[in-house]
Amino acid sequence: MTNPNQKNVADASQTVSGHRGLSFEEAIIFEIDTPGSSAVDLPEPEHDRDRLGGLRRRGGVGLPGLSEPDVVRHYTRLSQKNYSIDSGFYPLGSCTMKHNPRLNEKMARLPGLADIHPFQPASTAQGAYRLMDTLAHWLKELTGLPAIALSPAAGAHGELCGLMCIRAALQASGDARSVVLVPESAHGTNPATAAICGYAVESIPGNGNGRVDLNALKERLGPDVAAVMITNPNTCGLFETEAKEIADAVHTAGAYFYMDGANFNAIVGRVTLAELGVDAMHINLHKTFSTPHGGGGPGAGPTVLSEALAAFAPVPFVVHGPRGLAMAEHAGQGEAQHSFGRMKGFQGQFGVFVRAVAYMMSFGKDGLRQVSGDAVLNANYLRVRLSEELTASYDGICMHEALFDDRFLKDTGITTLDFAKAMIDEGFHPPTMYFPLVVHGALLMEPTETESKATLDQFCESVLALARKAKRGDAVDDFKNAPVLTPRRRLDETQAARKPVLRWKPVPMPQAAE
Ligand SMILES: *Cc1c(COP(=O)(O)O)cnc(C)c1O
Repeated sequence: MTNPNQKNVADASQTVSGHRGLSFEEAIIFEIDTPGSSAVDLPEPEHDRDRLGGLRRRGGVGLPGLSEPDVVRHYTRLSQKNYSIDSGFYPLGSCTMKHNPRLNEKMARLPGLADIHPFQPASTAQGAYRLMDTLAHWLKELTGLPAIALSPAAGAHGELCGLMCIRAALQASGDARSVVLVPESAHGTNPATAAICGYAVESIPGNGNGRVDLNALKERLGPDVAAVMITNPNTCGLFETEAKEIADAVHTAGAYFYMDGANFNAIVGRVTLAELGVDAMHINLHKTFSTPHGGGGPGAGPTVLSEALAAFAPVPFVVHGPRGLAMAEHAGQGEAQHSFGRMKGFQGQFGVFVRAVAYMMSFGKDGLRQVSGDAVLNANYLRVRLSEELTASYDGICMHEALFDDRFLKDTGITTLDFAKAMIDEGFHPPTMYFPLVVHGALLMEPTETESKATLDQFCESVLALARKAKRGDAVDDFKNAPVLTPRRRLDETQAARKPVLRWKPVPMPQAAE
């Protein structure tokens, strides 16, 4: 869906075929259907005996007919339209889009690890259990917390795990509470998790420095508050310097301190979470410990737990038994005496565990410490260089991501969205936009430690040039029309959200039964 009000700036480069350069205008597979074509050439069966009786299908199945080269080309071209961290710089704030070393992929594909089955007898899966035990050990070591649940399948799932442990602990002490407090800069998954868990969500304001207002938090704490969920470093890219005071106040009020650890990449090897008073925290293995993500593929959100919550952790988990390692599958086994149950089929995202262990082992503890140092250095490099033309939202050093707002675009008629679209023509994936909500027209940039200075310089030069062009005031249309060099221009996102067309051909609905 293109915007009809937009003049097509790229008309001059229209071609007869509709393709541009070697970038193809790709049709939907049903549109290139050649009925009768097939990738395989099988003879008609000799004995076409009907063994299905009246259930035999009479009509076609409606699959497109294509030759093998047509299928290969179609999907290869589609795959080339994907933008990914392997194609270029991907400064999407809060997402930690960093290079995934190929070694991890190689390890995850080792037949002994890739072909294992979750129902295999424990005696034949000792290596896999040991890998999970090693991962659990490293994550406990890196956070200083005594217990861990490996099975949550993503960050949001880890949050749910943490809150379910908290709910189980409160219920066990006969103290069911009803409210979870979340700062206004929180990632959307935090309030969503609390709501799914049955809690009323209340927002805590910021203090003007991009951090939680400790006094406002203290004022709201009371006997109805079950937990406080705080992201640290937070979504403004800043360290919550009063985290310990927050934890103390939360504990004094009889509540639990949940820390969203999705941004662990900024502090890995440097901060002992146990010393900050954290009760539960998930870690996004796919962000910090290098599993390709962003396409909805498997991730993992292991959740570390304090002593107070350890007994409520979900099953399964690895235990050391008399005949080697075993999997505790039920409450009452091993450490989790009061386990609230199971969150997921089988043991968790095993392939992601393999990548994380390979990544940790190849970096070592000192290497992981350097990861966070370099991630923070790169973010501050962007913050300082881009501040020449852009407006940084908060003074002082940031953590893993640099937050800008739209004050630098004031009176230009150009919005954050226009600016981000113009970045695409320059060959850069836009940063996170309009999030966090606490600043106006946010641009949140997370370079990660795996980008070189040359890449960051090229990015800065393009962004600074765009900002100067925006401020000159003579190129508003260029920004409004951007992107002009992409296979698709600006989409009518409202229309797409309100009236999504999810089928190629509408299928007639059967008449509803009376
Ligand atoms: C990514 C992220 C999450 C959610 O993680 P998923 O794996 O996408 O579910 C939660 N909080 C923060 C701060 C994040 O950046």
